[in-house]
Amino acid sequence: MNKRLFNITNLFFSFLILSVLVTTTAAQSVTPRIVIHGGAGTIRKEQMTPDREKQYREKLTEALMAGYNIVKQGGTSLDAVIASVRIMEDSPLFNAGKGAVFTNEGTNELDAAIMDGASLKAGAVAVLKRIKNPIDLARLVMEKSPHVMMIGEGAEAFAKQQGVEFVDPSYFRTEERWQQLQRAKERDQRQGALPDKRGTVGAVALDRNGNLAAATSSGGMTNKKFGRVGDVPIIGAGTYANNNTCGVSATGAGEYFIRSVVAHDISAMMEYKGLPLKQAAELVIEKVGKLGGDGGVIALDRNGNIAMPFNTSGMYRAYIDEKGNAVVLIYKDE
Ligand code: ASP
Repeated sequence: MNKRLFNITNLFFSFLILSVLVTTTAAQSVTPRIVIHGGAGTIRKEQMTPDREKQYREKLTEALMAGYNIVKQGGTSLDAVIASVRIMEDSPLFNAGKGAVFTNEGTNELDAAIMDGASLKAGAVAVLKRIKNPIDLARLVMEKSPHVMMIGEGAEAFAKQQGVEFVDPSYFRTEERWQQLQRAKERDQRQGALPDKRGTVGAVALDRNGNLAAATSSGGMTNKKFGRVGDVPIIGAGTYANNNTCGVSATGAGEYFIRSVVAHDISAMMEYKGLPLKQAAELVIEKVGKLGGDGGVIALDRNGNIAMPFNTSGMYRAYIDEKGNAVVLIYKDE
C-alpha cells in the first residue's frame, strides 16, 4: 500500500472510532438517579424503637442500592425500579408482598403497577392472592400481553402461563398486620374510620439513556372490603412515568389519590404549564390534602431533580443525592 493511501485509511478509521465514541458517550451522558418510598402515614419517632428504626433504614438502603447499582452500571430504569420494589415486597416491614395488610375478610389482596416513560407502556395488576412478587407480574402484563391491567383470577391464570412464582396465601401473613386488622375492625365498629397504618412501596429511576420508569406495589388499606382496589395499579393515579416530564409513585389514602389523579396531574402541570417538578408535586399533594386525603409521592424528573412531598407525620423514603450518596429519611423534620 502506498504511504498516502495508508494515511487516508488511517485517518478514516480514526474518525470512525472517534464518532462511535462520541455517540456512545452522548447516549450515556445522563447521570443516573433513583428515589424510593416505603409508605407514608402516622410515623412518629416517639412510637418507634431504635431497633425498628434501624431495620427500616437498613432495608430502605438495601432496596435503594439494589436499584441504583443497576442504573449506575448502565442498566435500564425499568430493571432498577423492579429490583428496589422486589426487595421491599420480600420484607415483612412494608405493606407490599410479604407483610401486606389484611382485608376485612382476613385475606391479603395485592396491587402493583409499572410504567415505562420512554414508550408510555404500562402494566398493572390488582386483587392478587398468591403471587409472591406482584411487581414482576405487572411488568409481564406490560411486556407480554396486549393489555394494561389484569385482576384477580384472570391475572393469576396469566401468571401461571408466564411461569411466575406462586406462594400459599399464608406466606403474606404477619402477626403485626393481623393485629392491625383486629384494631381496625374495633375502630370501624366505633366510628367507621379509615385506619392510618400503611407502608406501600415504590421506586422511580432515571437511567443513563434518559429513560424514566416508575413502579408501585401495595397490599392496599387494612380492613378493605368488597374487592376494593386502591390508587397503586391505576395508571395516572398512584403510578406514572413519561420521559418528557417525570416519574411518580404515590402512597396514601388511595381513594383520594384516584380522585385527584395524582401522578398524572403532576406530569400534566409540568407538560402543560411548564412548572418545575417540586412545585408541581407540592401543589398536587396540597390538593389531595384539601379533599381530606393524606399521603405523599416520590417524583423524579428527566433532569434528575427529586421531589418527595407528603402531608403525614412521616414517609419512609430514600434517594441518591448529587454526589452519589444514599440519603434515607423517615420523619417529617429530618
Ligand atoms: N395507596 C395505597 C392504597 O390506597 C395505600 C398506601 O399507600 O398506604 O391502596
